[in-house]
Amino acid sequence: MTFQITILGSGSASPTLHSFPSAQVVTLGNEYYLIDCGEGTQYRLMEQHIRPGRLKGIFISHLHGDHYFGLFGLLTSLSLGQRTDELLLFGPKGLNDILTEIFRHSDTRLSYLLTFHAIDAEKPSVIYENTLFTVQTLPLLHRVPCTGFLFREKTGNRKLRKEKILPAMNHEHLRLLKEGQDIYKADGTLLYAVEDFTNPPSPPRSYAYCSDTIFQEALVPYIKEVDCLYHEATFREDQAARATKTYHSTARQAALIAKACGAGRLLIGHLSSRYSESGPSLDEARAVFPETHLASEGETFDLPSRPR
Ligand SMILES: [Zn+2]
Ligand SMILES: [Zn+2]
Repeated sequence: MTFQITILGSGSASPTLHSFPSAQVVTLGNEYYLIDCGEGTQYRLMEQHIRPGRLKGIFISHLHGDHYFGLFGLLTSLSLGQRTDELLLFGPKGLNDILTEIFRHSDTRLSYLLTFHAIDAEKPSVIYENTLFTVQTLPLLHRVPCTGFLFREKTGNRKLRKEKILPAMNHEHLRLLKEGQDIYKADGTLLYAVEDFTNPPSPPRSYAYCSDTIFQEALVPYIKEVDCLYHEATFREDQAARATKTYHSTARQAALIAKACGAGRLLIGHLSSRYSESGPSLDEARAVFPETHLASEGETFDLPSRPR
């Protein structure tokens, strides 16, 4: 199954000409999920040739404008495009009030069902689940209620060892073996053993999105051994006091979290507009956690299946 993260925006609150506010697309199989929806997200989707009509759900981390001011435009455009499929929206409970007021004053009637699920930032929990993966909230500490999101693949079926398959085996045999069930003859003797014909499934992959947060190690147990971690890195160590005061993190702090949880890879973003160069932030993080990358607009990060 495809598991990819596409960065649409990773700037911070003050606008600049070379970055866009927070938004990412998670591709799982052939479904798209949007995390945060900063101003102009619908244009960034067009640039990446991602049809917004195919979005299944939207997850909003918190109600600072750089994380959701693009939502009104996107939701309205979907209606102009005559969308009929239900769209799931997860976010802080105040978001429902904001949208209701905007739609009321603009006399907007959506062409589709928008199902809003309020997130309780106090209680990390699974907020979405289908046959392929789960989405769990992560407790972040910011100036307003804020949650991260952990996308975790479910363990799939065992893999058939194609070279072992016998002509006598039928479709039902293969299905049961993939599900991990041994097959017995009518007299109760073993016919096909799972271990002989299949390999174990690939380990499930996971992606954690940790948007605006102060450095807090309490996050680590929730994201142990995540394959890919996005963590904000608004400041650098020279502004560590400012980071704490504004409930943000430094690049080094993001890397400390990645190291402590044993992440496979770290993506940093939300760099303050005060920095004209991103290189020093990357260097600062890499000194602690070498497998760090910038979450640059337009980049796609693949989460390949891990070897067993
Ligand atoms: Zn922000
Ligand atoms: Zn914020």
